[in-house]
Amino acid sequence: MFKSFLIKYAEIGVKGKNRFLFEDALVDNARRALDKVDGDFKVTKEYGRIYATAENDYDFDEVVDALKHVFGIVGICPMVQIEDNGFEDLANQVIKYIDENYEDKNFTFKVMARRARKNYPMKSMEINAEMGGRILEAFPETKVDVHNPDVILTIEIRNHINIYSKIIPGPGGMPVGTAGKAMLLLSGGIDSPVAGWMTAKRGVVVDAVYFHAPPYTSERAKQKVVDLAKIVSEYSGPMKLYVVNFTDIQMYIYDKCPHDELTIIMRRYMMRIAEYFAKEEGAQALITGESIGQVASQTMQSLAATNEVCTLPVFRPVIAFDKQEIVDVSLKIGSYETSILPYEDCCTTFVAKHPVTKPNINVIKNSETHLAEEIDRMFKEAIDTVEVIEINN
Ligand code: ATP
Ligand code: MG
Repeated sequence: MFKSFLIKYAEIGVKGKNRFLFEDALVDNARRALDKVDGDFKVTKEYGRIYATAENDYDFDEVVDALKHVFGIVGICPMVQIEDNGFEDLANQVIKYIDENYEDKNFTFKVMARRARKNYPMKSMEINAEMGGRILEAFPETKVDVHNPDVILTIEIRNHINIYSKIIPGPGGMPVGTAGKAMLLLSGGIDSPVAGWMTAKRGVVVDAVYFHAPPYTSERAKQKVVDLAKIVSEYSGPMKLYVVNFTDIQMYIYDKCPHDELTIIMRRYMMRIAEYFAKEEGAQALITGESIGQVASQTMQSLAATNEVCTLPVFRPVIAFDKQEIVDVSLKIGSYETSILPYEDCCTTFVAKHPVTKPNINVIKNSETHLAEEIDRMFKEAIDTVEVIEINN
């Protein structure tokens, strides 16, 4: 049973002061992820290394799964950490490590020693050669292969000595909290949870807004969005979900505007309201799950028409993805099964048979003037009656 894990992260681009911010955020996020699993863990940082150490019993798979949800981690290495009691003791511990971790000894290996503490009496190359010999002696079925070994046995000589040979891939990316905040327009579909996940992967804190249109959309449709928010927040951390009652605005647009422009005008109001909450939250961008050409409201002209009402940048991480590529990500992050549940979406209830695919912004703006009488009041009411759900996992 491993008592500790070495947490590997990519260091490229994180120099100077940013490096501390990056490491501290990673430590905090790893702690929060491990709080959710059984057992107590200490997460510590020491000279370019982050360790998670168990204080008592825990479930290996559960811990690995928790760490696989922490952006910024590129590798999770179950490791044995020992005191330096001389080379003989180290050799014995390494033999024991191999014996316990590799039932079948028919493998090729190389030893990779790294000496961060230069007062250790042997150089890295000497450790490699000497330890390689000891392993061959103890397990004659093994072979050395320095070019393409099955097993790379790493020995890090630091204040303690770390022994490990397995690197479980982490999710990569940047620790959430190191790159500002954005507001995700989260629907019940496949695309927007993926878009939120992708943005959080770059270190961005994500809050979300969902436009609910009761009674045209059911409580179950809303619950589905809450569930999707929870799935994204397993990676992105605590999230605020703004549930906006959009029924009046939607009905009003339906009454006053040409039906083939309904989707575009509705989209523009969603963006305006999302931007209002984004600014209130101190978010610096909006995120949508739009992809060029996927549906009529996602042609270049339609995207331009929805974009036009925003002053914040709008991030569309899946803009150039094929549907299957988006599905592949949703399967990987675990949102797919929830996204395909069949509950109606507020946009499908009112969609026109032949929506405009090349909206002209001036025409759209002119149609919006038909809303002048009531829209400000409705906009304010939608904001005043918002329900904020704290998604905390
Ligand atoms: P998704 O799979 O994300 O629902 P979609 O392919 O169904 O996307 P649309 O329904 O055209 O596409 O929506 C485009 C984007 O607009 C969504 O990805 C989402 O960001 C936003 N959006 C649409 N409907 C809603 C809603 N009811 N609440 C919040 N955001 C929405
Ligand atoms: Mg949708």
